[in-house]
Amino acid sequence: MNIMLLGAPGAGKGTQAARIVDDFGLVHLSTGDILRAAVADKTALGLEAKRYMDEGALVPDEVVIGLVAERIAKPDAREKGVLFDGFPRTIPQAEALDEALSEGGMRLDAVVNIAVDTEAIVARITSRRQCRECGRVYNVITDPPTSEGVCDACGGEVYQRDDDREEVVRKRLEAYEAQTSKLIPYYEAQGLLRTVDGNQAPDQVYSAIKAILEG
Ligand code: AMP
Repeated sequence: MNIMLLGAPGAGKGTQAARIVDDFGLVHLSTGDILRAAVADKTALGLEAKRYMDEGALVPDEVVIGLVAERIAKPDAREKGVLFDGFPRTIPQAEALDEALSEGGMRLDAVVNIAVDTEAIVARITSRRQCRECGRVYNVITDPPTSEGVCDACGGEVYQRDDDREEVVRKRLEAYEAQTSKLIPYYEAQGLLRTVDGNQAPDQVYSAIKAILEG
């Protein structure tokens, strides 16, 4: 089973992705996590990507398409299936994914669109924190780590992403509106789109997603 999670920044994709991969045993492919790891390692890719990420802009299509193609070519992607989280974000990326999957004899089974009110997003993202090691997502108000700054799952450092500052969040929302939201009609036309209400509590959002994936 290959699933894609679609939603504005702060819709809860990372939180839901962690639960989905645990329950369904899928490979978690988050282009944001891959890019942040490259930035932390100061690789050539990371240095290039950082310029865009710091401004809340999308990294060029050819860069992320290359990363994804490399990851889905590994045998575990076909064996276990993949959860795409934060990719594709543009129509050219979606077309490249369709092509790469079909070359490998795979296809997308569903696109889960987590729909949220954009006014709620800025508040949600600015209280978000993430583990630098394993990527687990926290919220300082509704879901803090047990010990401040320390990940419950792996003991890594829990920090605020540079691009979770308010002015950058607004730019990321603009990028979503201008580019990523175009994927909604794209996947609707393919009959793959399933929308869940992301304004609910995380457990309720997850129940809705689980029902879709089991159905
Ligand atoms: P995310 O963790 O998914 O919110 O991604 C964080 C940032 O990484 C985004 O704001 C973009 O700058 C970059 N990024 C992640 N995924 C993509 C993608 N599929 N296409 C372009 N840029 C991306």
